Amino acid sequence: MMNAAVLERSACFDIGSLATKLFAEIATRTADVEGVSRPAFSKIETETLQFLAGFARSEGLAAQWDAGRNVVFSLPEHSDALQYILIGSHVDSVPRGGNFDGLAGVLAGLLCLVRARREGSRFAEPVKVIAMRGEESAWFGPCYMGSKALLGVLSAAELAARHKQDGRSLDEHMQAIGVDMAPVRAGKPLLDRAAVKAYLELHIEQGPVLIERNLPAAVVSGIRGNFRYKKIACFGEAGHSGAVPLAYRHDPVLAMAELLNVLDAAWHDFVAKGRDLVVTSGMVSTDQQKHALSRIPDSVEFSLDIRSQDRDMLETMHALVLKHVARIERERSIRFDLGTALWTSPALCSKTLIAALTRAAETIGVPPALIPSGGGHDAAVFSEADIPSGMIFVRNRNGSHNPQEAMDIDDFKTAASVLYQFLNDPNQAFHQARAASQTAKESGPMFTKITDIIRQKGNAVRAYHAAAVAAQEAAIADPDRAVGYFMLGLAAQEFADANYGEPLHAHVFDQELSRLDEYAGMLDAAFANPDADVRLRALSTVALGLVSHRRRPEEASSASA
Ligand SMILES: [Zn+2]
Repeated sequence: MMNAAVLERSACFDIGSLATKLFAEIATRTADVEGVSRPAFSKIETETLQFLAGFARSEGLAAQWDAGRNVVFSLPEHSDALQYILIGSHVDSVPRGGNFDGLAGVLAGLLCLVRARREGSRFAEPVKVIAMRGEESAWFGPCYMGSKALLGVLSAAELAARHKQDGRSLDEHMQAIGVDMAPVRAGKPLLDRAAVKAYLELHIEQGPVLIERNLPAAVVSGIRGNFRYKKIACFGEAGHSGAVPLAYRHDPVLAMAELLNVLDAAWHDFVAKGRDLVVTSGMVSTDQQKHALSRIPDSVEFSLDIRSQDRDMLETMHALVLKHVARIERERSIRFDLGTALWTSPALCSKTLIAALTRAAETIGVPPALIPSGGGHDAAVFSEADIPSGMIFVRNRNGSHNPQEAMDIDDFKTAASVLYQFLNDPNQAFHQARAASQTAKESGPMFTKITDIIRQKGNAVRAYHAAAVAAQEAAIADPDRAVGYFMLGLAAQEFADANYGEPLHAHVFDQELSRLDEYAGMLDAAFANPDADVRLRALSTVALGLVSHRRRPEEASSASA
């Protein structure tokens, strides 16, 4: 819910009806049999950008095509700014996807500019908004292609990736829409990194967390990385389903099933230990020219997409894949052809920006919340390039990458208002906080270390006890943070005491750890901010969380069952 001050401020310009109109117009222009299709580096994508540029110019904004054939918008007086805050997202979509994934972030940024122009307000520092191409992996395999090209990190293998429908390479597609490919191939950034003071991205949430928690928007703590095998082929031996006995079978489908089963079992184990991990095989098929009900197939192809916020977790899973591939090949006399793994590193959002965005949310009466991102976003590429990056999620029903994704325009308005507040508030602690972040960087996230202990020790009762002891010691060693440590330690101790000797389901531990993670993240974000009020508010929020959790533990634990 927004408070009266926000409603009053936004009263003179209704961002909601303009946003509704723009979303609808673009959905109509890019409609497919169902949902929308805006292929990466396609004519439809170009036309979407042209439409947005036309709209921006009609509002008196500057709109320029950059070297990656993306469009950059700004107030006219900021089009040549030497340094600026960059807001962006992507305009492409998956095939028959939803209209809001990507586009919501572009329109949120653009509408902040429109609002500043119409209301004659001044941003605290220059702002540019970029509508980017080519983020979705559905078209070529690699993701973040547009932002990677901008930052000079699009690899030769990625440029050689072939379009799923026409078989032409990404390189050819980029050239066809007018990108000068020489610098891209040479790994030269197309944008001056030093000019970008911060990168901010608003995006629909692709999971159910905000719906479950009944929140319109949240600040994002970090983005899961992944490794992906786009097409693993497994080769066996064809035969008649009735005539070939077990001993003579070399069935690639069962070999694939065995591999996926091993990964599934490992996934359950790691999650039970509190690790962050998701495993998906979204494409599985035997050769449609040859397959039949009664034929043992000679080959099967499948994809693998494994994600985690934790780089070590990804490496552990990758080693596991290789180990079991070799074993299954030996045991079943089949052969896997893995192809090349595409890696994307996990990315953390800037603590300073997390604190600043949290502050902006609080200022306009939006309840502050911090959640991780399961899906990948262009922000990961900017963060990887050492540009401080931050994200805001908007509540969204039914996930994304499908036409049923559903974002309420009121939630979009709320999230866009957080962004606008951040950009406009001259007293926003961003500058001071940036100085403070140097200190925060030296000491690093402190409270999160307590929840890391729980993870490292296997997220069982004894792990909570160890964390409680560590929190006590930390409180003595670091008096400035003592209250925060005390509360985290208390929560861990209470959980350990209440559940001592009880057989518990893994989800109870997961839920407890994510609750403590949330508190630790909130405290770290607040303590990266020099403003004592911000710290006090975070401490109170955590205290309130602890008290209300204690009052209704049954309710809290049954909610996740
Ligand atoms: Zn997206």
